[in-house]
Amino acid sequence: MILIVGGAGYIGSHTIKELVEKSEVLVLDNLSTGHQWAVDERAIFVKGDLGNEEDLEKIFSSYTIDAVMHFAANSLVGESVINPLKYYHNNVTETLTLLKVMMKHNVKKFIFSSTAATYGIPKDDFLTELSLTKPINPYGRSKLMIEQILEDFFHAYDLHYVVLRYFNAAGAHESSSIGESHEPETHLIPIILQHLLGQREKISVFGTDYETPDGTCIRDYIHVTDLAKAHILALNALLTGRKQTAIYNLGNGTGYSVKEIIETCEAVTERQAKIEYVERRAGDPAQLIASSEKIFQELGWKAQLKLPAIIESAWNWHKRNV
Ligand code: UDP
Repeated sequence: MILIVGGAGYIGSHTIKELVEKSEVLVLDNLSTGHQWAVDERAIFVKGDLGNEEDLEKIFSSYTIDAVMHFAANSLVGESVINPLKYYHNNVTETLTLLKVMMKHNVKKFIFSSTAATYGIPKDDFLTELSLTKPINPYGRSKLMIEQILEDFFHAYDLHYVVLRYFNAAGAHESSSIGESHEPETHLIPIILQHLLGQREKISVFGTDYETPDGTCIRDYIHVTDLAKAHILALNALLTGRKQTAIYNLGNGTGYSVKEIIETCEAVTERQAKIEYVERRAGDPAQLIASSEKIFQELGWKAQLKLPAIIESAWNWHKRNV
């Protein structure tokens, strides 16, 4: 049985869709930001808190768990700057509780959702896993802290783990049955698509004076199903003993500016956006682009879906959920 913590969220629920085809899946989620409807019905769902030791004890004593995938976290850069306590509590303290109970029950295979925000302001055009990690916001710092804790747990307790550093997840499942659904929504692509559906008056572009060709921030967008597939490969590598520890970047290797994303959304939807240019958002580096060469070399993973296909799948999902 594979335990998916935070499986009702965006990336967790898409990973479950891939995983339930081959494995027994148990989901723990407190539904603070996720949705129970997003969890595939073939998975067992338990509502509970990863920071609640009693909830965890019940789960770990009732089921034989081979590995844990941990998606549950707060993940908004801007919010983390304003409310760091929430981020260090939910992302660090609660993850430690999960790890503590795992160690107690001798569950020693772990897949951890990390982020490009661990890098901070990049010195390299393409970030590799060896690039300097110097996060510039509490969200990135909270994730890097857990990465460091995992390394210590490997040495002290023989915890085997894979850290996956996501770049910008986007898109929706090909069935359009699940997709990106945050409340409130803060991410660029869903915000643009909601605007193009008439659900928002305009789009605000945060900052036009970055050191990028058009002055807006550049990010590497990756389809959520590509991310999901990387989790399956990482899990298999741990379960078969091929890997004891690894850190992998997950991105497409191509950067798009905020303006380019808006233009691509306009092209895919054949609609025109109304844009306002505003101040920078706190905590945003100018550019984040992944090199995902390492996971290609070691596990054979490569992102398959490019930007237009990513936006098209997101558009299909948003149209269905107006
Ligand atoms: N962004 C923007 N307007 C919005 C939302 C996001 O200009 O309404 C920008 C944001 O500043 C960043 C990029 O779009 O440069 C991607 O932001 P998002 O929140 O989607 O993901 P993040 O990179 O923070 O994980």
